[in-house]
Amino acid sequence: MRNADLVARDIKSVWHPCTQMKDYETLGPVPIKRGKGVWLEDFEGNRFIDAVSSWWVNLFGHANPRINAAIQEQIGELEHVILAGFTHEPVVNLSERLIEVTPEGLNKCFYADNGSSAVEAALKMSYHYWKNHGKPAKKNFVNLSNSYHGETLGALALGDVPLYKSTYAPLLMEVITAPSPDAYNKEAGETDEDFALRQFEVMEKILAEQHDEICAVVTEPLIQCAGGMRMHHPIYHTKLREACDRYGVHLIADEIAVGFGRTGTMFASEQSNITPDFMCLSKGLTAGYLPLSVVLTTNDVFDAFYDNYETLKAFLHSHSYTGNPIGCAVALATLDIFRDDNVIENNKHLSRVMAESVSHLADHPHVGDVRQQGMTLAIEMVKNKATKEPFPFAERRGMRVFKHGLTREALLRPLGNVSYFMPPYVITEEQIRHLGQVVTEGIDIAVRD
Ligand code: PMP
Repeated sequence: MRNADLVARDIKSVWHPCTQMKDYETLGPVPIKRGKGVWLEDFEGNRFIDAVSSWWVNLFGHANPRINAAIQEQIGELEHVILAGFTHEPVVNLSERLIEVTPEGLNKCFYADNGSSAVEAALKMSYHYWKNHGKPAKKNFVNLSNSYHGETLGALALGDVPLYKSTYAPLLMEVITAPSPDAYNKEAGETDEDFALRQFEVMEKILAEQHDEICAVVTEPLIQCAGGMRMHHPIYHTKLREACDRYGVHLIADEIAVGFGRTGTMFASEQSNITPDFMCLSKGLTAGYLPLSVVLTTNDVFDAFYDNYETLKAFLHSHSYTGNPIGCAVALATLDIFRDDNVIENNKHLSRVMAESVSHLADHPHVGDVRQQGMTLAIEMVKNKATKEPFPFAERRGMRVFKHGLTREALLRPLGNVSYFMPPYVITEEQIRHLGQVVTEGIDIAVRD
């Protein structure tokens, strides 16, 4: 099989996600035959460093032997069983382990099979909690500008990235949007912390005035990933937690993308020293292997649903593959690797190398920002460095960097004008330095004309 053969067949039958299919007239999908570690390889032996962890999911490399072994073992035992009325060892073990590693106070695990579904479950649980407590007027949600929580209608409604949302606006529930603490928007001379505190004042006002009608605030702690890897100071969530407690509003932390070490700590919420009422996890939960997600919540939330059947207080929400045993076995193997290999500690060194590899770009005339939070680093190209005026989106400068990367063994799929590294943690110093070099070349090419 040659690359072109598979691409020709692909174009006849596959409709790709998040893609204008006409683009494939000029650059088709990259056919991948196999993966090993950070490498993805096509049918003709060309290979690419997976710098974006295949949409932020892969943690320990492709075809990881320890995770492969866990799948083999589980598949010989039990591939799947209904989780309503039944249980199995992997789901119990995983729930115990997740309760152990997440912030203190999260005591119950509710499973689904992808990130959006976890967000939907958390939204419904929060609303239903208040209803069970005799407060049905609480039915609104607060989000942050530039946020992203998934593509299903409830999750999409909570997001605020117009590119994904605007078309479907007539179908979506209305939400209350507070301005993001995104440090990219701070004033000259202002610190990230001061800016976060200033933005928080609006959130505080919304909660003070409307808390009787608000179920929950939903956020992506520390990094708004799909919103362009925009980052903010952890003080925002410390303040938010206090305010949610004061006003009787839930805090839903969407750690689907930032969880499992991406921000430098196991979970982003740790850096604000908080326990959310709901924590949504997916992506890294299975180290990039299988669709699985979970909503962790508190005993207080759980207890609001616990009653005799005829009271109809139960959370009657389900997905066919809820708590899939193979997914759970993979998640357990993932947590074992974190523990046995001291991953969070070792990543600190890789984070430093990532910073060094692109430090020179801060002075580049068309780089508006180089920002980093742990194992996530983003470089934002701008038309005008002084004013941060962006390049028009239709010029697709980030795609130019991506195309250059493909010629230099690097998969650098952009977010608009933002190129970023969110690599698997098995990446080496040398590979990071290579990515730094390739992204520099790519930006030089992308900003021409
Ligand atoms: N929340 C966040 C913060 C995400 O980044 C994503 C996926 N990019 C989702 C939710 C949705 O997850 P999924 O694509 O698995 O539905």
